[in-house]
Amino acid sequence: MKKDYYEILGISKSATADEIKKAYRKKAIEFHPDKNPGNKEAEENFKKAAEAYEVLSDPNKKAKYDQYGHAAFDGNGGFGGGGGMNMDDIFSQFGDIFGGGFGGFSGFGGGGGQRRMKGSNLRIKVKLTLEEIANGVEKKVKVKRKIQAPGVSYKTCGTCNGSGQVLRVTNTILGRMQTATTCPTCGGAGQSISSKPADADSQGMILEDETVSIKIPAGVVNDMQLKVSGKGNDAPGNGIPGDLIVAIEEVEHEFLKREGENLHYDLYISVAEAALGVSKEIEAVGGKVRIKLEEGIQSGKILRLKGKGIPSINSYGNGDLLVHINVWTPKTLNKEQRQFFEKMLTDENFIPHPEKTDKSFFEKVKDMFS
Ligand SMILES: [Zn+2]
Repeated sequence: MKKDYYEILGISKSATADEIKKAYRKKAIEFHPDKNPGNKEAEENFKKAAEAYEVLSDPNKKAKYDQYGHAAFDGNGGFGGGGGMNMDDIFSQFGDIFGGGFGGFSGFGGGGGQRRMKGSNLRIKVKLTLEEIANGVEKKVKVKRKIQAPGVSYKTCGTCNGSGQVLRVTNTILGRMQTATTCPTCGGAGQSISSKPADADSQGMILEDETVSIKIPAGVVNDMQLKVSGKGNDAPGNGIPGDLIVAIEEVEHEFLKREGENLHYDLYISVAEAALGVSKEIEAVGGKVRIKLEEGIQSGKILRLKGKGIPSINSYGNGDLLVHINVWTPKTLNKEQRQFFEKMLTDENFIPHPEKTDKSFFEKVKDMFS
């Protein structure tokens, strides 16, 4: 039985993207092979944490996992078979999460074979309207990616023989110590340039404009980050490209306020409309919606339009649209109107007599969050 990804990272299902990242970082450092040399159990835990993070940090995969559990990734190119991620995958994918504390590949020269350098990630911001967030959208963005210049060729680095690392022996009072450091000749790439065109940089790379299409699922939230694999900078030699990290920026809507999956709309009606009842058209993300207000509606009443909010990114179903009724009192009155209202001052029907069902503002707010 496979252990639950949330359990592995020690977080709750409601953890935010930031909390998930922090939890993973903590586990990764705790079980990091540099800290636990030769400890197979730590290595297993290190891999499990990376696998959990790989899924939970990706909104699409997370949504699938939340819905179907591990079954979501069986037999479709996920981690179902074959013993999970290998160490190189982990470092190439999540190396940047370790920050300065652990260099990306430190300690992973062993195991034979050349390691592959990963290109750096690119970051962009994408502005989305509430409508786009509600429906999901495909955005085309222009990015400047480093790619290998046409005509560049690489050869295996002679200093490190392609491993990207050199062993340094130092004499200390405890005896001879061997430490692996990044190869000074190739900078860890394991390869060096044998020939390159004049316009390429020292690694044989040039910048190129590329239009990348990004599928954004419905229900994303401000500051959420999506990853487009392989659309960051290419790496020199036989390296693999970095990723394009897309940060979501929500553009404020003119009339609708978002609160999680729910939307709020302030509707202003006149005293006459409140007294007589009225049909009103209001703004919603899927287009306008007509609602009927009963005669005698009270200011402060909240009407809940089920399912007219934002879809949940983690599960099925939509939030609601909450329409707040505000009765607009005229700021000035003409003589006739003044006489009418003065007459109503003593009219029994105009004297407030709230019933138990006319909840106070605070009770309504409490209801809204329960
Ligand atoms: Zn080298």
